[in-house]
Amino acid sequence: MHHVLTPAARPDIVAPDGEAPDLKTDVVIVGAGFAGLYAHYRLRRLGLSLTGFEAGPDVGGTWFWNRYPGARCDVESLDYCYSFSPELLDEWRWSERYATQPEILRYIEHVAERFDLRRDVQFDTRVVAARFDEAAQRWIVETDRGDRISARFVIAATGCLSEPKPPEFAGLEDFQGSWVQTSRWPRETVELAGKRVAVIGTGSSGIQSIPLIAQQADRVTVFQRTPNYTLPARNAPIDPDHEARVRSDYAAHIARNRLSKSGTQSRLATGLSVYEIAEAERNAAFERAWDFGGAGLPSLYRDLVAELPANRIVSDFVASKIREIVGDEQTAALLTPADYPFAAKRLCLDTDYFATFNRDNVELVDVSQTRIERITAHGVQVGDREHPADLIVFATGFDAMTGSLLAMNITGRGGLKLKDDWRDGPTNYLGLMMAGFPNLFTVNGPGSPSVLVNMLVTIEHHIDWITNCIGHMLDKGIATIEPDRQAETAWSDEVQAVGARTIYPLAKSWYMGDNVPGKPRRFLVYAGGFDSYAARCTEVADDGYPGFIMSAPVPGDASTKKQAGETVM
Ligand code: FAD
Ligand code: NAP
Repeated sequence: MHHVLTPAARPDIVAPDGEAPDLKTDVVIVGAGFAGLYAHYRLRRLGLSLTGFEAGPDVGGTWFWNRYPGARCDVESLDYCYSFSPELLDEWRWSERYATQPEILRYIEHVAERFDLRRDVQFDTRVVAARFDEAAQRWIVETDRGDRISARFVIAATGCLSEPKPPEFAGLEDFQGSWVQTSRWPRETVELAGKRVAVIGTGSSGIQSIPLIAQQADRVTVFQRTPNYTLPARNAPIDPDHEARVRSDYAAHIARNRLSKSGTQSRLATGLSVYEIAEAERNAAFERAWDFGGAGLPSLYRDLVAELPANRIVSDFVASKIREIVGDEQTAALLTPADYPFAAKRLCLDTDYFATFNRDNVELVDVSQTRIERITAHGVQVGDREHPADLIVFATGFDAMTGSLLAMNITGRGGLKLKDDWRDGPTNYLGLMMAGFPNLFTVNGPGSPSVLVNMLVTIEHHIDWITNCIGHMLDKGIATIEPDRQAETAWSDEVQAVGARTIYPLAKSWYMGDNVPGKPRRFLVYAGGFDSYAARCTEVADDGYPGFIMSAPVPGDASTKKQAGETVM
């Protein structure tokens, strides 16, 4: 892949340690997934110089890395796409209700081509440090290739679910078979035929991949620590009537998405309470929702996710479906979540997941009580039993929300390290910026609605907000922006308070940081709904950014001036 940096050192910019950076740029954009690419698109139009870094060899982010069998979206394709360009919306046609990973990746590649978005990105390059130089009011960004770049702004488009949890199992180094992670599935074909495959993990990635692995492998052993709620996706070729309805006024459809809580519109929501409906009618509606497929069931009645007694009604319904599908009673019981509410962990969508456990070549191993002790030379040891395997698939998840940001070794004003500032959990203002870390924007940062919403909506929203903020700074000759501590504390407290009123804290999940040993337990997402969050962000911008501190330029630094001919949107 191409290397865009010119090695011409700039003696006029010298980092605190005395070393000159290789390049001076206006904005460093880290990541070339959906968010990073859109940042290139928008910020280029401000006339700024951009330097992008992407650890992977090409664009795509999530959809580049997660190539496991069965990987696909759980938001409908017509909604899980960029909306910034009507022409793009018009020309791209999705083939299925829920797009597969290869199709989404083709789409991202198409967008990158169409808008020339690879131009400023250096691939195969990881940002390993970013340090704010207070004298110059600029960031010094360092990469694993030894690049040093001086930048006014840094956009961390590094992804909420991009830092895989390493497989931390004793003995892995002795394993004589091979192993893969769903989150880093190789581009080369992984041979499954004739293999005994162990799959560890039954989150969304495990649930999507297990049915397909089972169709190809000789034997599959699934190691389940916690059963998950999953609903049938009922994926199919895209429904032409639904597509025609959406396309008849796509702009209005998008506008409605942006005014919704979740960035999509449920086709099943009644707005009623489950208690307003007679039991027989309610059960019939549950059945219809189950048959319709997708994630609509929780939205059927307004209290199903909001209140525990109502939640029990829908969780009992799902349990009854598991019993109906799974032949073996004991396996059905093991697959049924028992100790946390429906949708308190990220709800999964599947294709034939439960039915897969009726296959002769599939075995479910419960590791909730007796944990995986170690990986042996020939398999997976649980208690006194060794489960033989030729291939181990780790579907064990991510250090979500904070992992990719902390991995960048960010140091702000006064030598403040982000990892120290976040020792008790992440704090920021609006999920966008951290006090003491000027001109560093996070996309879908902790404390924003991010993963509770169709993320294409949140990505476009964040990048638009950031672009407008930078445009405002250029207009007014402002050098730096950062939240004040008070605003940051108030927002972070609000994120916790709103989260505490939901069912999410009642499950152990990555929403709460539970999946990473030693991570502070804190609700990592703003659960107040995308609609109210976006309105709040707009209000802050319209009111001249209360809660943010803005500073004047360093004398003689021309880079803070608005450049001729640029458009500020
Ligand atoms: P990413 O796509 O994660 O891209 C971040 C990029 O930054 C990566 O390419 C990474 O390599 C790079 N990077 C990170 N750190 C560095 C560094 N230090 N230096 C250089 N590069 C770096 N969301 C939905 O809304 N609906 C779905 O159905 C859905 N399905 C998903 C399925 C899977 C398997 C996963 C893992 C996530 C899914 N998500 C879904 C969430 C998904 O991550 C987002 O929808 C979206 O793709 C995020 O885009 P992004 O650009 O913000 O981050
Ligand atoms: P995940 O939801 O965190 O699931 C990880 C699984 O691994 C869990 O079942 C977990 O068990 C298990 N696990 C972890 N460490 C273990 C250990 N030491 N021993 C035994 N089991 C262990 O990760 P994911 O499945 O990759 O999904 C992450 C998120 O990505 C999803 O929630 C979703 O937001 C997104 N995603 C979406 C889709 C989609 O359908 N579009 C697909 C994939 C991913 P515990 O539950 O007990 O911790």
